[in-house]
Formats: sequence, C-alpha cells, structure tokens
Amino acid sequence: MQNGWETIIGLEIHAQLNTGSKIFCGCSTRFGDEPNQNTCPVCLGLPGALPVLNRQVIELAARAALALGLQINSSSIFARKNYFYPDLPKGYQISQYDQPFSANGVLEIMTALRDDAGRPLEWRPKKIMITRLHLEEDAGKNVHEGLPDVDRFSYIDLNRAGTPLAEIVTEPDFRTSWEAYDYVNHVRRALQWVGASEADMEKGNLRCEANVSVRRIGDKNFGTKVELKNLNSVRFMQRGIEFEVARQIGVLESGGSLRQETRLWDERAMETRVMRSKEEAHDYRYFPEPDLPPLIVSREFVDEVLASMPELPDARRQRFMQQYDLSFADASQFTSERSLADYFETAAETSGNPKVAANWIRSELLRELEAAGMAASSSPVAAKELGLLVRMIDEEKISGKQGKDVLVEMFKSGKSAAAIVEEQGLVQVSDTAEIDGLIDQVLAGNPKQVEGYRSGKETLFGFFVGQVMKASAGKANPKIVNERLRQKLTG
Ligand SMILES: [Zn+2]
Repeated sequence: MQNGWETIIGLEIHAQLNTGSKIFCGCSTRFGDEPNQNTCPVCLGLPGALPVLNRQVIELAARAALALGLQINSSSIFARKNYFYPDLPKGYQISQYDQPFSANGVLEIMTALRDDAGRPLEWRPKKIMITRLHLEEDAGKNVHEGLPDVDRFSYIDLNRAGTPLAEIVTEPDFRTSWEAYDYVNHVRRALQWVGASEADMEKGNLRCEANVSVRRIGDKNFGTKVELKNLNSVRFMQRGIEFEVARQIGVLESGGSLRQETRLWDERAMETRVMRSKEEAHDYRYFPEPDLPPLIVSREFVDEVLASMPELPDARRQRFMQQYDLSFADASQFTSERSLADYFETAAETSGNPKVAANWIRSELLRELEAAGMAASSSPVAAKELGLLVRMIDEEKISGKQGKDVLVEMFKSGKSAAAIVEEQGLVQVSDTAEIDGLIDQVLAGNPKQVEGYRSGKETLFGFFVGQVMKASAGKANPKIVNERLRQKLTG
C-alpha cells in the first residue's frame, strides 16, 4: 500500500506439461532440436489432419490441478480460439473456454512481509482463489535473430507448436508484488514436486503474466488494468509489478488517465513499455473444437492419480515440524525441493538423531553443495552416508571437529565416513583410563603451571586442555578431557 492507494494483481501462468510427446500428435517435445524437425501434418496444421488427445497430458494436468487444490471437472470441452499469427499455422489455437479441465481452487500459500532489500521479515498464510486450470496447445516460434539474413526474412520454427500447456488463472487476489512472487514460487515448486512440469522460467517452460491495477483505498470499483508480459523470472516479475504500480499511481496523481493495454517489462532499462493497446477486447470467436469429443474424466481416474501422488510440500513441512521437532524455517528450507526433503528424511532416520542431522545438513552440507553449485539430488555424499557420519559424532566415536573434516573429504572423494575415519585413524579416545594417563603426564611435566593454577591462575586451564589434546594427537574426547582435568587439578 502506497499513500492511500491499493494494488490489485491477478496472475496467469502457462506451464508446459512434462510429456515426451505433443498434446495432439506423437511428435517429440524435446528442446533444442533442429528447427522444424519435430513436426507432422497435425502440428503443421495441414488440411485434413486430425488431433488425438495424449493421455499423459490428462494425467499430468490432473496431478497439477490436485497439487493446487483445484476441482477436476468430470467433463470439459476443447475449443478453437481463432486468431491469425505466423507461428500458428492452423489459424486457431486449440484451448478450453467455458468448460475448462478444472476450476475453483483455494490455495493457501505462505507469504512474507519484506524489508527494502527483499529479505523476509515475517511469514504468514494467505488464501488465493484459483479460477481455473485449463489445457491448451502452445504456438510455434518466430525467429528474428541468429541467422545471416534476418534483416530481410523472418523464420518460423514449429517444434514448439502443439506442446501441452496448463494455463492457471487466479482471481485478482494479490495486494503486493511480493505476494505474487511467493505465489509463483509456490506454484512452481508444486508443479515440480508432483512431476507435472519442469516449471523452469529460464527455459521458458513456465511463463507468467500479471494483470495490474491500482485504486484509492476504499474504492469498490477496480481501476484500469494493464497486462504485463515478458517476465522472464520470478524476481523480474516482482520488479516489473513494482515499477508498473508506481507508474500507474504517478499518472493518476498527476491528473492523467490510464489506458487498458499490454506492456512489456524491460529488465535492462527497468521500465515497462507499451506493446499493444487493448481498448477493443479481442474477439476470438471461440467455438467447440469439432474434431475432439468432450473430455470425460472419471472419479476412479482422479482417485488413481490421487493415490499415486507424493505427500505435498505443505503437509510434509507440517510433518517435519511435528515428527522431527524442526523449526518452521528449517522445515520450510528442507521442503523447498522434493529431493532435499527426501535427503533430510533419509539422513535423519539413519542418524538416529534428526535434530543433529538437520543441523549438519543446514550448516555443513548445504554450504558445500552451494559452493559446488549442486542440488541435493546430485550430492556426492549420499543421505545415508551423512546419517552414518552424524551417528558417529553423536555416539562420540569422532569429535564434531573431526566430523567436519571428514565431511569435506567425503564430498571430495565420494568415500564413506567409515572408510575415511579408518584411513586417517581418526577414532576419538573416550576411554577415561587412557585420558587419565595423558593428564598425569602433562601435569607431571608442567609443575610450575600446576602450582600457578592451584594458587588462583584459572586461565591456565585452557593451557592444560591444549597440552592433553596435543599429547593425544587430537584424538581425545574434549568433553572427557575437561571433566577429568578439572577433577585432577582441584582434587
Ligand atoms: Zn506433430
């Protein structure tokens, strides 16, 4: 909220469903192939070619819808959305209109108030209404760069034409750019979590558009809305919305009026530019696709998909807090990715001490992974191995300090903790008789310091600990050394 103004934001996300073949033909969806290699009469839009729905699209769309709390309609209708564009050879896109695949979702997300640098200050839940998730085919791509004669010609690559998309539309429920940011991250993680989409904005398989308007606080009517495009990362989207809100308030406060239009976010210039005016609403002349029957989804099918779904991130975060006594922050971090959640859970169980395992993952392992630019799923230290290392430390077979060095070595060499401990002879000495022997040697060898300590120079205690540790070649259990030393010096 800014000086008496309220921001209203609605979001549309296009997520590419993670199928091997296209939505209405058998062509591959592989990215990066030779232009127009993955095409056939159906996706080239040749006359007489007929679409056939890919069953895997329905499974993945169902997973996506269920992960976002949407209801799946028992019957939905594909419709033709008519418009002309060179990357759309049929002259229409097969989409869904008044009877979408799924609708009416209430999604609870966690969103944070943030400081000026974008650091979260306080997390709180917020409910977002998802209007619909419908299915459609993607268009091809116009190519304007990378070829020698693009100053004279335009090229078209139809490999992407017919790739399955789920379009996810919300109600205008967001009041700040950060709420939009937290929502998109939530959706992205949910889609990845259930395997519905790679949901990678950089690769373009998750695209986002924001409808942004402002109104004076207390106004019942919505202001003129602007559609923002070209938001190539979640952070760009957040910045684009911030800019657009400030621009709209500036125009209105100086007595101007806004036009309904589509604007592009220019990340380099940090501003939005007009792409096209939307004063006349497009008439796409939607009508039911005559070449496809209604899509019927049975209750049994939905139940089957539900049964095959993994435990969802929010439920898992909640369980981590209860079962393993983790803080909200730790549980949130460990459920930020499914592979990390799996990693934590395996390590926690093997270690026998989930809280300590959590600390080791958070403070030691994640630092190594981050430095190497790796995800938990490709960690050279397997979750079980980390759990065994934590167990050794917890059982005082090696010290915590030794454990840190062992982990670094495990990370480098891929060897097990047990193998490294044995190779380096790292076993911690906790045997009191052996430690007593070392203490006696040290005390006998330093009579002046003993006298000094006993006459009140307590700072000498650290000196004795150091000498005993040195005498044990660093292997003595420091806790026991401390206990025994104190006894012997005062006794
Ligand atoms: Zn095809």
